[in-house]
Amino acid sequence: MDSKNSVQKDFIREIINKDLKTDKYDGRVHTRFPPEPNGSLHIGHAKSICLNFGIAQEYGGKCNLRFDDTNPAKEEKEYVKSIIEDVKWLGFDWEGRLFFASDYFNQMYDYAVQLTKAGKAFVDDLNAKEISEKRGTLTKPGINSPYRDRSAEENLDLLERMKAGEFADGEKVLRAKIDMAHPNLNMRDPVVYRVLHASHHNTGDKWCIYPMYDWAHGLEDSIERITHSLCTLEFENHRPLYDWFLIQIGVYRPQQIEFARLNLTFTVMSKRMLLELVEGKYVHGWDDPRLPTISGMRRRGYSPASIRNFCSRIGIAKVNSIVDFEFLEHCVRDDLNKTAPRFMGVLHPLKVVIENYPEGKVEEFEAVNNPEDSKAGTRKIPFSKELYIEREDFMEDPPKKFYRLTPGREVRFRYSYLVTCKEAIKKNGEVVELICNIDPETRGGYAPDGRKVKSTIHWVSAAYAIDADVRLYDRLFTVEDPAGQKDADFKDFLNPDSLQILKSCKVETSIKDLKPLDRFQFERLGYFCIDSDTTKDKIVINRTVTLRDTWAKLQKQQMNK
Ligand code: ATP
Ligand code: MG
Repeated sequence: MDSKNSVQKDFIREIINKDLKTDKYDGRVHTRFPPEPNGSLHIGHAKSICLNFGIAQEYGGKCNLRFDDTNPAKEEKEYVKSIIEDVKWLGFDWEGRLFFASDYFNQMYDYAVQLTKAGKAFVDDLNAKEISEKRGTLTKPGINSPYRDRSAEENLDLLERMKAGEFADGEKVLRAKIDMAHPNLNMRDPVVYRVLHASHHNTGDKWCIYPMYDWAHGLEDSIERITHSLCTLEFENHRPLYDWFLIQIGVYRPQQIEFARLNLTFTVMSKRMLLELVEGKYVHGWDDPRLPTISGMRRRGYSPASIRNFCSRIGIAKVNSIVDFEFLEHCVRDDLNKTAPRFMGVLHPLKVVIENYPEGKVEEFEAVNNPEDSKAGTRKIPFSKELYIEREDFMEDPPKKFYRLTPGREVRFRYSYLVTCKEAIKKNGEVVELICNIDPETRGGYAPDGRKVKSTIHWVSAAYAIDADVRLYDRLFTVEDPAGQKDADFKDFLNPDSLQILKSCKVETSIKDLKPLDRFQFERLGYFCIDSDTTKDKIVINRTVTLRDTWAKLQKQQMNK
């Protein structure tokens, strides 16, 4: 979507359209994505990334990537790296406008001095607990701090000494002087700076006072001349403060606009909880394919296009809601169906011996790489006397609706022959091998006499197949809203079966030419990708998603209701 005319309408784009009409920002559209580098990004961030960068693209504007790194204790360089990688991978470009809020520390401090000189801020000796006790409630006004009426000179002197390191953590804070009876609690003399003797990933030990979020964020937006500062709904109550600060110091003021955050069923979406899962080793790192992190989804095999499409289809709203995980998977399937090459692989191998096929003979059959993409072409797959099929494609004593292989029945082995099962060989009661016959007249899988079979199954040649470990994933949690369960820890609802590892699966030879993260379909089984744990000696494959579109099914059921 390049042309301005094709820009879809939602309430944010409507505001921007209006601002463009009135020339509020000289026709500019400039957004930013401002992550705090205290964890890896998740799919909720993807929504914000797609929104901010998407709007910039649609309007021919700009979008900055800005690290909101004002909080020294929690931030880590490693997260900066991973966030950069994730935004790039999603397909967005900040065109060199990569900024760190900490680069503005000097300027933020100068503005605080200005505010203090103007009598709009004071240094308070109350500690955090006392400040909170005097803050009042929604129904009760707060109480002025006894230090509120210090002179501007005294405040300035104390602020400078705070900066110079004369005070211990928590001993003093700088507060804005607004109104302790204000109906909006955020306006009751909010803290602007706190003393914190901590090293910062960017500024080292230069600072021992650090700005609070509400003070810093608007300044960052203003310094970068952002036009529309998009944030999630919980900041709606902070907007008056955002505006107040910028008006008091008399600088350029962007428009803050709030939208609903993305929530997904069967997972958690807060960095704090994700960190708990990673640090507690409930999962294997931030890029564990079961996590809703962008790095996890990448490793799982989700494509950037499918995530962008998902974010665009869920849209932008003013009310919080929860999106079905099935819908995300639907978007993933939708994209992979068009783009993923097809292969054959057997997850639970059962050996098949073709009795009437010569030992040592090999025939090559032509297989379609992607029926949805004619340009993807074909490949050759070898057929030989010993094959593997999926264990569940055979039943010795099948129920009525089972149309796959059973003794005496003929089925199609995809791309090759019609095959009839003659006998099942058992060991200790378990079927260990099938003896089958092909009809040599059915090369390619179709009978010249036109007779039909009721099913087509996949297979691989035992001589040519290669071994792989396949990791199957299920929901990470057993309930839709693990974080919202009464009197319970979200970790109590972890699904013990969220990861299943299948050893010695048999897969088509061509799989070995794929690289880590390459995505593909195993016919009839789902979409998969090569895991980054793959080595020269061992192929590791992740199942991205099954083929069963439960979301489409849900939609159908609802329509029929
Ligand atoms: P979390 O609550 O997961 O810890 P956060 O809001 O603290 O996330 P930030 O790094 O501050 O994380 O977020 C960067 C940007 O991403 C912010 O503009 C924030 O509003 C947005 N964002 C975070 N989570 C979501 C979400 N679930 N849906 C939409 N936008 C989100
Ligand atoms: Mg945040």
